[in-house]
Amino acid sequence: MKAIRVREFGAPEVLRMEEVPDPRPGRGEILVRIRAVGVNPVDTYIRSGQYAINPPLPYTPGSDAAGDVEAVGEGVTSFRAGDRVYIYRSLSGAYAEKALCTEAQVHSLPKNVSYAQGAAIGVPYTTAYRALFHKAQARPAETVLVHGASGGTGIAAVQLARAAGMTIVGTAGTGKGKELVAREGAHHVVDHNAPDAPEQLMKPTGGRGFDVILEMLANKNLGKDLAMLTKFGRVAVIGSRGAVEINPRDIMGRDGAIIGMTSFNISDPDLAGIHAALVAGLENGALRPVVGQELPLQYAARAHQAVMEAGAYGKIVLVP
Ligand code: NAP
Repeated sequence: MKAIRVREFGAPEVLRMEEVPDPRPGRGEILVRIRAVGVNPVDTYIRSGQYAINPPLPYTPGSDAAGDVEAVGEGVTSFRAGDRVYIYRSLSGAYAEKALCTEAQVHSLPKNVSYAQGAAIGVPYTTAYRALFHKAQARPAETVLVHGASGGTGIAAVQLARAAGMTIVGTAGTGKGKELVAREGAHHVVDHNAPDAPEQLMKPTGGRGFDVILEMLANKNLGKDLAMLTKFGRVAVIGSRGAVEINPRDIMGRDGAIIGMTSFNISDPDLAGIHAALVAGLENGALRPVVGQELPLQYAARAHQAVMEAGAYGKIVLVP
C-alpha cells in the first residue's frame, strides 16, 4: 500500500509518499481501508520535531481517518469486513491507504456522514467535547465563547454547545469564516482580529461576561479572556503558540479558573464515553463535520502548510 512516511523531522517536504507492506490484523486488531484522512495542527508540530512527544523515526503521521473495515483479527466482535467506520488513533498511522487499529480506536460511521466528514471527527470533536463538558463543565443555559470557532475544533465546539442548550458567541478571522460559524450554531459572531474585539464580544452578554471560554490561541487572548469571565467562569486552554502575560487578579475576584488540557491525557473510559456521545450526535444530525478542502494524499506537505495559515474553514482532508 501507499503511505506518507517521515524519515527525518523538519519542514513539510519531509512528508513523502512511499510503498510499504500492507499491515495484517493480529488478535483484537482491525484493518481499515482509508477513504479520507483528517489533517490536524498537531500533525505539523510532531512532523517538525518540536512537539513534547515525538514518535520514533520513520513513522506514518495522522490520527484521524474514515473508511471501511477490510479485515478483522481473531477475537474482534464489534466490527466486521465492510463496516463503515471512523478512527481516532491507530497502530500504524492514518496518512495511508490502510491503517491497523485496536478495536477501541474504531467507531461506527453513521450512514448520513460522508467519509470526508468522518475524517474530520477524531481530534477536533474529541477535544471539543472534553474541553466543554469534562474540563470546563459547561451546563445548559450557560454562555460560552468559542474563541477561534472557524477551524476544525471550533466548529465542533459550537455544534456541541448548541445541541446542549448553551448561548454561543463564536469568532473567526474572515467574512467566510464568520458566516460558517453562524450557520453552524453560534448566536453571535465576532472577528477576533478587530481592534475592539473584547468590547464586541462582551456586548451580546449584556456586560455580564462568559461562563465558559474555549480558547484556541491563548498566547494572543488569555489576558483579555480573564477580564471577560463572569463570576465562577472557566477558561479551557485548547490551543496556544507562545507565551502570554495575565493579571491573576482578573480571576481572583471572580473565583475564575484557567484549565489546561491535551487530548493525549484522556483516559480510555472517558474516550469510550465521548465517542458514544459523538456517534449519537452524528446520527441525529446535531454534529455535522465541515470539510473546507480536500486534497490527494500525495499533497500532504501542501496540507501541512495550509492548516497553519489564517482563514480557517472547517477541516482539511487528504484522500488516498
Ligand atoms: P484549525 O482548524 O487550524 O483552526 C484554527 C482556528 O484558530 C481558526 O478558527 C482560526 O480562525 C483561529 N484563530 C486564528 N487567530 C485567532 C485569534 N487571534 N484568536 C482566536 N482564534 C484565532 O485548528 P483546530 O483544529 O481548530 O485547533 C485550534 C488550536 O487548538 C490549534 O492551535 C491546535 O493545535 C489546538 N488543539 C489542541 C488540542 C489539545 O489537545 N489541547 C486538540 C486540538 C487542537 P481564522 O483562521 O478564521 O482566523
